[in-house]
Amino acid sequence: MNNSECRILIVEDDPPIRKLMATTLRANGYTYHTASTGNEAELELTSSPPDILLLDLGLPDTDGMQIINTIRSWSQMPIIVVSARSEDSDKIDALDAGADDYLTKPFSVNELLARIRVAQRRIASIPHNDEATSVFTNGSLKIDYSSNCAFIDDRELQLTPIEYKLLCLLAGNVGKVLTHTYITDRIWGNSLESDVATLRVFMVSLRKKIEKDPSKPEYIQTHVGIGYRMNRL
Ligand code: CA
Repeated sequence: MNNSECRILIVEDDPPIRKLMATTLRANGYTYHTASTGNEAELELTSSPPDILLLDLGLPDTDGMQIINTIRSWSQMPIIVVSARSEDSDKIDALDAGADDYLTKPFSVNELLARIRVAQRRIASIPHNDEATSVFTNGSLKIDYSSNCAFIDDRELQLTPIEYKLLCLLAGNVGKVLTHTYITDRIWGNSLESDVATLRVFMVSLRKKIEKDPSKPEYIQTHVGIGYRMNRL
């Protein structure tokens, strides 16, 4: 999807920030609409659903969280939360509700554009996950879901069942930040093992197997205090 085909909805009540976002998107050839309240956002979302949503969490009439919940009942469009709140808990709540990514104010124009490019790649990768071949590829990583095998440069990886599950979960959500709770719930359910320290241990061992240099991971990015994301290489 090139930039002009990519329709972005900016939901932001702060005029200078809304203007900065609009100017940046226009300068980079994106098609965009703006909304300054939750009500306006709902109108835009139903009348012409965008490809990507930039959503401020603190709106005058609605909590941005409510908008995320509503959208996720009918669409998987990438949602990038824009929040002035520096508290990790707000970002974590938004990600757990189904947001894909977050930007903390103040942010740079380059950061904004980088997050949008990740979302564009995510849109492009969604059809691949539904392909009948059931093979996932990303850089030199390949997962063959039908045989439960994963490869780096065609060399089969010796993964434990938990490492394989973890890799599949991250691959199935490539480009999206997954919170610790989201991951542990899906890997361990509600069992006693499901804590962040355990997850970190498995992440270390998985990285040793898939990353060229585990101290500078390319595939799996850490979001300190929040969770992990698989990058699209
Ligand atoms: Ca606001």
